[in-house]
Amino acid sequence: MYKDIATPVRTKEILNQYGFAFKKSLGQNFIIDPNILRNIVSYANLSEESGAIEIGPGIGALTEHLARNCKKVVAFEIDGRLLPVLEDTLSPYSNVKVIHSDILKADVAKVIEEEMQGIKDIMVVANLPYYVTTPILMKLLHDRLPIRGLVVMMQKEVADRITAKPGTKNYGSLSIAVQYYATAEVVMTVPKTVFMPQPNVDSAVIRLTMRNMPPIQVIDEDFLFIVARASFAQRRKTILNNLQSGLPSGKEKKQQIVDALNQCGIEPTRRGETLTIEEFGKLSDALLPHFR
Ligand code: SAM
Repeated sequence: MYKDIATPVRTKEILNQYGFAFKKSLGQNFIIDPNILRNIVSYANLSEESGAIEIGPGIGALTEHLARNCKKVVAFEIDGRLLPVLEDTLSPYSNVKVIHSDILKADVAKVIEEEMQGIKDIMVVANLPYYVTTPILMKLLHDRLPIRGLVVMMQKEVADRITAKPGTKNYGSLSIAVQYYATAEVVMTVPKTVFMPQPNVDSAVIRLTMRNMPPIQVIDEDFLFIVARASFAQRRKTILNNLQSGLPSGKEKKQQIVDALNQCGIEPTRRGETLTIEEFGKLSDALLPHFR
């Protein structure tokens, strides 16, 4: 077994050797505690037959733990300065492929097809760059990749919003957008002290398990998310007011919105945060004919 990358001493050694300076703009906060990495990997339940997709390998701290625990790792890294570092730090592992790409621009489905042939169990495992957590998650979920799920670290505040249940203060359009595709749970909270440099925010790891079927059937998925976003635009406002201001020409269509709410048995004075995903599904279908 090789010495872990994720110790403060080895991380500093690597950074000094390559004269690497962190770029805050790329969300570069590297993990310097191997125990945290072992826990993250264990939540992914990988086997020797599994594949792992990582976003942002950094200097390879999490990557090597994945490489030791599954058949193949494909890691997307945006920062070209890290490529020679990774080539060096990951040289003991023949089952890692690093791709120099912005994950938001990558054709991940195609990469899986090419790089994970014959692998049936695939997990996304990552310590995400916090400045793009939500776009990355939404892209991966929306792309309907052949994955079992995701185990990802992010700022705790976003983790709480993603996993929130109706009626709670964190529940919002992000909870609905993610929980439509996957079941979501916070599996671990992580202190700032295990990062170099330390971030300003607390962190948490969430596990998303992809659903075989969405929890609700709607006519138009994109419209469901438009309705959900509009419903939470101003949390103090009623659902009727939010839909009027948030939907295209909503002001002129007040009566149609009231009718749709009544049709679904939803009081127009309720607030978005009290609606379940099933109610949003019904409402979206009832509103759709008026906004198509
Ligand atoms: N995995 C390493 C660790 O845990 O120590 C590094 C995690 S660090 C929080 C985020 C990493 O994502 C950095 O290496 C950064 O360069 C990379 N990154 C930032 N934006 C990215 C993007 N759009 N696509 C791919 N990688 C990105």
